[in-house]
Amino acid sequence: MDTPSTTRTALVTGGVRGIGLAISAALARMGMQVAMNYTNSSEEKVAAAVEHVNCHRADPRPDRDGRTWAVRCDVADEQQVKSMIDEVVQRGDGLDVLVANAGIIRDNLSAFMDLADFKTVLDVNLVGAFLCAREAARVMMRQRRGRIIFVSSISGLDGNAGQANYAASKAGLVGMAKTLAKELGQRGITVNVVAPGLIDTDMTAALPAELRERYSAATSLRRLGRPEEVAAAVAFLASDAASYITGQTLRIDGGLCL
Ligand code: NDP
Repeated sequence: MDTPSTTRTALVTGGVRGIGLAISAALARMGMQVAMNYTNSSEEKVAAAVEHVNCHRADPRPDRDGRTWAVRCDVADEQQVKSMIDEVVQRGDGLDVLVANAGIIRDNLSAFMDLADFKTVLDVNLVGAFLCAREAARVMMRQRRGRIIFVSSISGLDGNAGQANYAASKAGLVGMAKTLAKELGQRGITVNVVAPGLIDTDMTAALPAELRERYSAATSLRRLGRPEEVAAAVAFLASDAASYITGQTLRIDGGLCL
């Protein structure tokens, strides 16, 4: 699964924290150059994340060659996304893997949800992923190869009370991935989705302990997931081993759906 690849370049949106950071590390371990996107994290946190990812390389050493770097961009902003992809392509000499992982929540029961909160979540989670995928696809079509992986959620597949905005955005990724898979397959580009269950990150740290325990009890494995467990699946989908898989959604939920 850890396909050696010294020249491939990956972009991970929301790549400096949580699941995104674990994905960045997993792709670096495969030998890829990794551009880690962020928007609000502090410079200190970003620098630490870049160092952390380099430590996961087979040949950890000071990153004089610039194999890992951070790129600031709000994925919901079309112009910023265009600039980010241009920068990554120039610095990485192409773009082979896009992991559209950046995401936010603004939970509330639908009857009480502000329209602004509904739209903001759609803008970041769905429109942001579209913008990144569109710009990446333009590069990958010229290269005639590429991997696009969306980070969805079981909320998008099953629904979840209090998450009408989030679930809609994550369900949208599934339909978009299938469409892109059909559009881009003949250019050698695969498009897939991972749909994690509850994973232990900043995003879920604030959830009431009772809810986290209820979720754990409902899984076959009786626990929350770890970011590295999502990253392993993404790394597989980005590897040569997954060359004939496209348009698929992989649940990573510890057996919640069983
Ligand atoms: P975190 O809240 O820990 O991290 C979110 C990341 O997204 C951060 O790096 C953040 O950047 C980035 N981000 C947010 N908004 C933007 C934006 N507008 N532009 C660019 N980057 C942005 O979340 P997780 O690691 O938990 O989640 C990662 C993905 O996995 C999300 O899409 C989430 O929906 C999904 N997911 C998470 C689950 C979980 O249980 N944790 C379950 C299922 C899916 P910055 O660091 O600058 O703030």
